[in-house]
Formats: sequence, C-alpha cells, structure tokens
Amino acid sequence: MSTVELSGVSHAYGRTQALSDVSLSVEPEEVVAVTGPSGCGKSTLLLLTAGVLRAQSGRVVVAGTELSGADDAARARFRRRQIGLVLQFGQLVEDLSVRDNVALPLLLEGHRPAEARAAADGWLDRVGLPVDPGTMPADLSGGQAQLAAGARALVTGPRLLLADEPTASLDPAAGRVLLDLLVGTTVQAGGSVVLVSHDNAVAARADREVRLRRGAIAHQVALS
Ligand code: ADP
Repeated sequence: MSTVELSGVSHAYGRTQALSDVSLSVEPEEVVAVTGPSGCGKSTLLLLTAGVLRAQSGRVVVAGTELSGADDAARARFRRRQIGLVLQFGQLVEDLSVRDNVALPLLLEGHRPAEARAAADGWLDRVGLPVDPGTMPADLSGGQAQLAAGARALVTGPRLLLADEPTASLDPAAGRVLLDLLVGTTVQAGGSVVLVSHDNAVAARADREVRLRRGAIAHQVALS
C-alpha cells in the first residue's frame, strides 16, 4: 500500500486555482522532494496531504485512510497519530513551554505527562536544542523554533513526515542535522517523507523530485 495517494486533486482559494488535477503516490521508505517556482502550489499540496486543507475535488488517501472524505476533527486526529508536519515558521503554541509543545502530540493522545516530557527532551536533544523546562517559544530564534517543530514532528514516530522548507531558517550544519533526523528516522521506521524546498541540499536527499508548475506536475525525476 502506498503511504500517500493523491488522485485528481484540485484546490482553489477563491478565484486562484492553486492545484489542478494532481495525481501522485508516495511509497513506504520513499523520500520525495516537491520543487517549483514560488506560487506553483507546493505548500497547498503539502497542506492537502496533511489534511490541514480538505481537497475540493479528487481523493487524498494517507496510509489507507481517505482524508478527503473526513471532517475537520477526524483529519486532525489522524494527523496527530500518523503525520509529522514541519512548517516554515515552526508554528509553536505561544503559551506552552517549548518542551510541552514537543510533548503535546503525545499528551493529546493520553500518554502520561512524565513520559511525554521525557520523550520531548530526548528529541530536543537529538535535534540540537536542549532547553530548560521553562523555555518559552518567544525565547527562541526562528531557526530554534524550526528545530523544536522538527522534534515535535518526530515525537510520535509518524508514518508520513511532511516538511515545508524545514531548514529555511537554519545554518547549513544545523539544517543537515535536522534533515538527517527527519528523513533517517522516518525512512528507517518504514515511513515516507515529502519535502518542499528551494534548497538543493534538501532536494538532494530525495529519491524522486516532483516539479510543479502552475498547480500541475510538470515533470518527475528519479534521483537515486
Ligand atoms: P508555493 O508553496 O509553491 O509558493 P502555494 O501553494 O503557497 O505555492 O500557493 C499557490 C497559489 O495559491 C498561489 O497563487 C498563492 O498566491 C495562492 N494561495 C496560497 N495560499 C492562499 C491563501 N490562503 N489564500 C489565497 N490564496 C492563496
């Protein structure tokens, strides 16, 4: 079973057609880079696959579950359990500590707080952001917020890791550490990774590049 199956997916924001009839499968252990010029629909593709947006037409199936037919609450629940999502600006909850932001997916699933926080500390260490328990998102730089978002995405051991410019605010060395973890951890566990990036170093980690142009797949290239 493919991890991701998009069939004939279209999405518009008002009169702006962001994606038109896109079909794409991503297999277990596969890493796909989605590239293309600004405004071509990369983020929309990622948000539809994550179930943050619901496709206006076509089917979005992730790990056998049809997200395009699920309501907001069901998609959010599914995302929490199966998908790790890293967006450009970290998107941390401002009034929770950094550690609790990372622990949150586990806390919401009913894990014991001590266990969830210990797991969060472990991932924060691995991404290179050891923090005091009281550190708040406002205390972090943009790059550190991206590291925390990476730790939060990995804490549940997701089947599918989706990342939109995950290293944009990081220096090359920190970016490499984060990317190695996002890709390595997910693929080793049999999951799949979809990376949106302008950065060649990010695309170079992929098995396949899917290039979008004006909301459609312009071409696909196997990279390995
Ligand atoms: P990319 O990630 O490749 O830059 P996006 O998926 O963000 O492309 O955007 C695709 C198109 O949809 C662009 O024309 C963009 O302006 C438009 N768009 C994206 N998000 C919104 C939104 N929330 N409201 C209105 N238009 C949007």
